[in-house]
Amino acid sequence: MGSESKMVHSPMVTYASMLSLLALCPPFVILLWYTMVHAEGSVLQTWDYLRQHGLQGFISIWPIPTATAWKIIACYAAFEAALQLLLPGKRVEGPISPAGNKPVYKANGVLAYAVTMVTYVGLWWFGIFNPSIVYDHLGEIFSALIFGSLAFCVLLYIKGQIAPSSTDSGSSGNIIIDFYWGMELYPRIGKDFDIKVFTNCRFGMMSWAVLAVTYCIKQYETYGRVADSMLVNTILMLVYVTKFFWWEAGYWNTMDIAHDRAGFYICWGCLVWVPSVYTSPGIYLVNHPVTLGVQLALYILVAGILCVYINYDCDRQRQEFRRTNGKCLVWGKAPSKIVASYTTTTGETKTSLLLTSGWWGLARHFHYVPEILGAFFWTLPALFNHFLPYFYVVFLTILLFDRAKRDDDRCKSKYGKYWKLYCDKVPYRIVPRIY
Ligand code: NDP
Repeated sequence: MGSESKMVHSPMVTYASMLSLLALCPPFVILLWYTMVHAEGSVLQTWDYLRQHGLQGFISIWPIPTATAWKIIACYAAFEAALQLLLPGKRVEGPISPAGNKPVYKANGVLAYAVTMVTYVGLWWFGIFNPSIVYDHLGEIFSALIFGSLAFCVLLYIKGQIAPSSTDSGSSGNIIIDFYWGMELYPRIGKDFDIKVFTNCRFGMMSWAVLAVTYCIKQYETYGRVADSMLVNTILMLVYVTKFFWWEAGYWNTMDIAHDRAGFYICWGCLVWVPSVYTSPGIYLVNHPVTLGVQLALYILVAGILCVYINYDCDRQRQEFRRTNGKCLVWGKAPSKIVASYTTTTGETKTSLLLTSGWWGLARHFHYVPEILGAFFWTLPALFNHFLPYFYVVFLTILLFDRAKRDDDRCKSKYGKYWKLYCDKVPYRIVPRIY
């Protein structure tokens, strides 16, 4: 078995990033929540508090997961799992895996998203459940997610050891690497319940939209109105998540699903980091109802929507090009391409097409530019009084620059001379003429 993870990062890097993820990310999530909700978004205020009260002070702000928090998470997870299993959807095939398998999915993401949002807002509208409760228990929910997701990753590791779902699985021979990068590429429960679709899409990405609406409703319940800054932030985040579900079947062709195994790195990230860090500009805005004015609000909104659209169009262009085997128009012209052959882990020779025009001719990962700018624009309504709301933008920039390098390394070892040809033709990795 050839674990792709082995070739992208050495064991030392894996140990270091796993230890730092385990040791630093959980306290960071709690400190982020505490600073946004209880310290006015001011890192200095939290720092002063920690300096005065030391470790004991830090322990005292760490919320213990309450029964309410567990109940909210359990109801949400069960609801999303039921929608994933029960809602109808078109049969979609994923890309051929390194072991030569073709995973089959049910594309019901848009329907699940619509049902979730209508149900959630409906529960509030008809006075059945107030989303403010979620915001009021946010610290406990994040705390429960931190511990619950760790246990979930242990279960994934055990499943990978004793009952893998497909031949795209196996051990690298190192328990830490196996736990961190995962044992299985496509773990399933039974034939139909895909675990990565659940963790990444239906739990992680869906929670982003649910929490964005939660913050908006909380501000409304607290101040009796929703500030234009909050509206712009919420609309842009919802546009982004709507785009995600619209294109969900395309996401099943990306690195997260087709290359990264289901381990601590990806699953913990989707189950904890997405609901907390990705939504964090909204957490800040709840207690900071900045008024932007109609003109500025509209400028930010339009710029943000444009970025989300361009990011979508980059992904769409690549997937349309692959789907039609290059027989499509890219920016009104026949696409230029490289026919790249490679060998699967089972020794078969296959070919893939690499698009070298359109967005993919500007830079090899140009799609990360509008992704980062989109995040900047939905944070901009927080203005520049504090740094912390911009943490996600900074984190995303580092993540995507690392990801571009990982992807380049992987493609280089997959396509060899053909990838070099692509690099010669499109020399920039992310930003045209700069990097
Ligand atoms: P993709 O998987 O979409 O693209 C990279 C893959 O596409 C490569 O591994 C290669 O796969 C194939 N490829 C590369 N170059 C070409 C080409 N020129 N023509 C055709 N195929 C090519 O990348 P990501 O998963 O990183 O991104 C998908 C989306 O998710 C983007 O919109 C991105 O912005 C977003 N994203 C968001 C993140 C967030 O945290 N907010 C994090 C990561 C991504 P193959 O082996 O098939 O050849």
